[in-house]
Amino acid sequence: MKKIVFAMCTMLAISLVFSASLSKAADKKQTHHVGLHDRLLDFTEVRVIDNDMKVPLDEIAKVLYIPVEQESNMTYIRKRGIEISYNEVTQQIVKDGVELSWVPIVDVDGKLFISVKYIAREIGFKTEYFQKQQTLRIYRDDYAHISHTEYEKKIQQLLEKSKTVVSPIKPSQKSAVNVYLTFDDGPNQFTTINNKTLKKYNAQGTFFFLGKHMKNNENIVKAVADEGHYIGTHSMTHDKNKVYKSSTAFINEMNEGTKLILQMTGQDAKLLRVPYGSKPHVTPAMQQQLNKHNYKMWDWDVDSNDWKYTDKQADKITKNVRTGVEKAYKSGDRDIIILLHDRSQTTKALPQIIEWLQQEGYTIKTYEPTQHIIQNFLQDTTL
Ligand SMILES: [Zn+2]
Repeated sequence: MKKIVFAMCTMLAISLVFSASLSKAADKKQTHHVGLHDRLLDFTEVRVIDNDMKVPLDEIAKVLYIPVEQESNMTYIRKRGIEISYNEVTQQIVKDGVELSWVPIVDVDGKLFISVKYIAREIGFKTEYFQKQQTLRIYRDDYAHISHTEYEKKIQQLLEKSKTVVSPIKPSQKSAVNVYLTFDDGPNQFTTINNKTLKKYNAQGTFFFLGKHMKNNENIVKAVADEGHYIGTHSMTHDKNKVYKSSTAFINEMNEGTKLILQMTGQDAKLLRVPYGSKPHVTPAMQQQLNKHNYKMWDWDVDSNDWKYTDKQADKITKNVRTGVEKAYKSGDRDIIILLHDRSQTTKALPQIIEWLQQEGYTIKTYEPTQHIIQNFLQDTTL
């Protein structure tokens, strides 16, 4: 008994010293970074503890789709047949029934941080450290990624650019939550109205256009691109039987659509949205094709269900968005993607939606390829 009390006092003393020195570091800009395949990840904090990079467990779990469960004073991490548990009272870490002799998980001011190297390797990733950029890249060889040399060049540029960016954000603030308004099925006459509404409110959107409509509406495509909105493909035909007929048919639809965007806007649009959402239509073979061609794929967090309503029911679309965004915000989502369409009823709802988002203080953004957010129903971390 005595021994336990002594151990706990020692731990308390150590953690007090720790938190005092670390909270000072937290006020400074992030000095260390974590990358996944070709990207740099965005964590609220990256800490170096015992010469090892650690990040908040809940945040990396979200990025790598690792289920984390909390049961009274135990935290369980389960993935690919392994189980790692952390006991917050004894601070014991057990993997598959065996206690670990070192500490990949640390409690800092009530928040669990996990070793990036440790968790990545446990679930089958490799790691590479870039000394100059103080960046730890995690990757898997069975997923397409650029070489380490190319990656180092890329992150060097990204980090130089980000030096001008302001201080770290508090996740509890709504201004730190990015909301992406996405519009499917254009371009058409309603795209033009949505484009004007976005301009009026100084807001940015993301459009997923259909190749068959782009061919007849090049002027609309250009007008949307001129306002700085991101344009990605939504296939050529939108026809379920054609798009999902085979992985070849699928990738051809995406390549053709992307080629049209390139021709009309000069943008190499690597983000796309597949018709009807990825699940259950997109097969593993199609996922491989997307990877091979370096595409990223978005589904959505909030479905406005706008297609169901008439012009007179536009307030129902707004209500769906409000309910969905609030739910996502409460669940801790910091990047909320909203599904809308270029339809008449949506043009009626859009001003109300933007006004509400701006009043609440959310940040409305267009898609940024350099800060890609993973959002697909297949939970594919490479897309
Ligand atoms: Zn669609």
